[in-house]
Amino acid sequence: MMARMHSGEMLRRLVGFDTVSRNSNLAAIEFIRDYLDGHGIASRLSFDDSGAKANLFATIGPADAPGIILSGHSDVVPVDQQEWTSDPFTLRSQNGKLYGRGAADMKGFIATALALAPELKQRATAAPIHFAFSYDEEVGCIGVSRLIDQIGMAEARPFACVVGEPTMMRPITGQKGLQSYRCKVHGREAHSSRTSYGVNAVEAAAELIARINAIARRVREEGPFDRDFDPPYTTIHCGTIHGGTVQNIVPAQCDFTYEIRNLPGHDPDPLLAEIETHAREVLEPEMKNVAPEAGFDFNARSRLPGYAIAEDDPAVALVKRVLGANETGRASYMTEAGLFGRAGIPTVICGPGDIAQAHKPDEFIEEAQLARCETFLLRLTETLAA
Ligand SMILES: [Zn+2]
Repeated sequence: MMARMHSGEMLRRLVGFDTVSRNSNLAAIEFIRDYLDGHGIASRLSFDDSGAKANLFATIGPADAPGIILSGHSDVVPVDQQEWTSDPFTLRSQNGKLYGRGAADMKGFIATALALAPELKQRATAAPIHFAFSYDEEVGCIGVSRLIDQIGMAEARPFACVVGEPTMMRPITGQKGLQSYRCKVHGREAHSSRTSYGVNAVEAAAELIARINAIARRVREEGPFDRDFDPPYTTIHCGTIHGGTVQNIVPAQCDFTYEIRNLPGHDPDPLLAEIETHAREVLEPEMKNVAPEAGFDFNARSRLPGYAIAEDDPAVALVKRVLGANETGRASYMTEAGLFGRAGIPTVICGPGDIAQAHKPDEFIEEAQLARCETFLLRLTETLAA
């Protein structure tokens, strides 16, 4: 058997694969598969439609017993337009910190789990540990759905899942949902001296965005509220807008994106309906009077559920006991927990590193966090075996 690799060394290997979501992750996944294979652990891959990306699912210990999933995403966000001190895909160690794209979000967790694989194999005698590593999390939790289908076919249904997103090794028991939309506004071109013959798509978009902003303000003031979240209410925001060509043409096209990050108990559908109804009933009639083809097209980009697990759920109790933690927290950022939760698998978010580092230039993870994660995973496996 090969000697055990250090977590930091494994992280160096993983950071070296440029798994920005737009790229293939196969080199990284094949490296992981071969590494596990070298320790006598078989992996199953599931591919996206192009075949250029894959999830990896591996079971350590008895496959016919219910066990625990350790979930992580293999992809990372781009480094474009970011000022990095050194190459983001070459792990740099300085003063107890390891710098590189994905160090915190979330190759640190995957590296720790992989480095421990030989030890987990010795200790997972009664209940298995499953590695579930996905593609395309950062672009809308796309890969994990296929992974969950695969888990559904596992010999024994896992009884819990730990999503290792960076929480500074604190257990997180709820997250907001994310509904993200693209709106295309169609108008009609005209010379800008003849505005009444055209339909201005940029102005129509602006009117709808103003309405979205008014809804956001109302929700911020009137709630619902959940003080465990920061901010403690559902947020709505427009992120991009593109429209028009030159100053002296009434623009025929404009598109913009917006998103709703909803509290787990707050149904986002009435808010989405309110936006669309304003477009259809208030804005479109006037546009169509001039140009029947004018109007709004709404396209959902991602619809991800919020998630909350009961504080007295056995999965929460287990993670708290293993960590020696009394408190739990909530996350306003999106993770795959919502999708595992929707599949009926009790899920806790807990991983090394700080979410404040995620997606930033000079992203880092403290080596001490990797050590804490090692202790957690070893104790978790021992507890399951006992
Ligand atoms: Zn992440």
